[in-house]
Amino acid sequence: MENEFKNYFKIEIPKLPLGIHYFDYSLHIEFFEEMGEALMEKIEGQIRVELNKAPRLIVVAYTINGKLELLCDRCLQPYWHPFSLTHKVYYTFERKMREIEEEDVFFLDKNIQYLDLSQDIYDLVTLQIPYRKVPEWCPAASCPAEIMLHLGNKTNTEPLIDDRWAALAKIKIEHLEEENNSI
Ligand SMILES: [Zn+2]
Repeated sequence: MENEFKNYFKIEIPKLPLGIHYFDYSLHIEFFEEMGEALMEKIEGQIRVELNKAPRLIVVAYTINGKLELLCDRCLQPYWHPFSLTHKVYYTFERKMREIEEEDVFFLDKNIQYLDLSQDIYDLVTLQIPYRKVPEWCPAASCPAEIMLHLGNKTNTEPLIDDRWAALAKIKIEHLEEENNSI
């Protein structure tokens, strides 16, 4: 069971003929747990890798579609966050490859046995987790009662403070009046 995904995203490079090759994978929560930390509750999705092997260059094009189950920051209810991404990584066998500028370019040793896509896939998917995890429907009737109450109070905060200040001011005035009367 341990390291079940150790070889899951490894592509043997020497065996591969020149040209375009496709690799299809499924996303599993256990992979993210093995990589260190699963920052989502559940995951479902597909990865398509288009690998183009040329004599001096390997281009890996990712297309990843799926959904992450996250916990709402506000009410801790789970919700699905859909995502879809494409990303290209270039690997070159020549250190002086300057033609490609904007994308990721990595140097590969000529004797490389396999290309491990694990870290790229982990990073690409993990980057899909939004900074603010609150679904559009939150707050909803299904949110825990205490959260609804908390959110309800929050929206009424300003008038409440105003009332308190008004009440405080009134007490102060009454107090002053009492002091004046006692003199
Ligand atoms: Zn919520």
